[in-house]
Amino acid sequence: KKIYLNGDILDSESATISVFDRGFLFGDGIYEVMVQINGRFFYKEAHLKRLEENLRKIKIDFDTRNLSAEISKILKGSDLVDKDCLLYMHVTRGVAPRQHAFPTSITPTFMMYAIPKILPDINLIKASVITSEDFRWTRCDIKMISLLGNVIANEDAMQAGCFENIFIRNGVVTEASHCNVFFVKDDIVYTHPADRFILDGITRQLVLELCAQLGIEVREKGVSEKAMIDMDEAFLTGTTTQIASIRQIDDHFYYQGDAIGKITKRLQEAYLKLKNDYCGN
Ligand code: PLP
Repeated sequence: KKIYLNGDILDSESATISVFDRGFLFGDGIYEVMVQINGRFFYKEAHLKRLEENLRKIKIDFDTRNLSAEISKILKGSDLVDKDCLLYMHVTRGVAPRQHAFPTSITPTFMMYAIPKILPDINLIKASVITSEDFRWTRCDIKMISLLGNVIANEDAMQAGCFENIFIRNGVVTEASHCNVFFVKDDIVYTHPADRFILDGITRQLVLELCAQLGIEVREKGVSEKAMIDMDEAFLTGTTTQIASIRQIDDHFYYQGDAIGKITKRLQEAYLKLKNDYCGN
């Protein structure tokens, strides 16, 4: 496996970073993930824009102008040019003696890798999810590499044999460990507003666009834990999850058997068409 590290393409065994890298010491960095389908990255501009916004949010001074050329390098090095794959991009503040405050002069560490990835058939996913208290900090809008809260929540879901763990903050659903969460009630779509309590997913933005195109009413409003079980439909969104129907939350079932909600289905179909139009067959 090949790794892009600060401009070089290396074997994963020889791609090493200093133990004084602030990403390692403090989790001081951000990341981005996007997928290539039929040789084209799906919503690449939106992902790169979010990467730039995140760098700005945590004040990492990193020049992204050559990013597309650098991405081509790792795809070539990994033999994945034009292949279906997932690209992981990771920028940390860089290497410096351990001190909390940002060093005045520091070069960011930039790492990327690409791995073959075929996205799952979303028609087959009928997710069961658990819920837990959102114990994370209040800057969940930053796509930071310190994912301990998300990792612990996801592990709890795996231990419970579930697909995801949905966070509840002050009685309101925020998002899940690596997905955004949507609900549908009386043909109206609900999702948490893109504030500091959630990551504004690219897939979330896309679903909101699709709702507008399809004339589906949307309310960007947090759904309470109580209201959650009175909803007609629920689904998760994410770059690799795409749009995944939720069948069960804790011990509440939205559907029996293999049913998928009407609006969820419409959005899935519109999403698949968009993906085909964007990336080709
Ligand atoms: N929320 C969290 C916490 C995530 O980690 C992710 C993706 O990794 C998402 C939401 C979904 O974002 P996107 O649709 O951009 O993949």
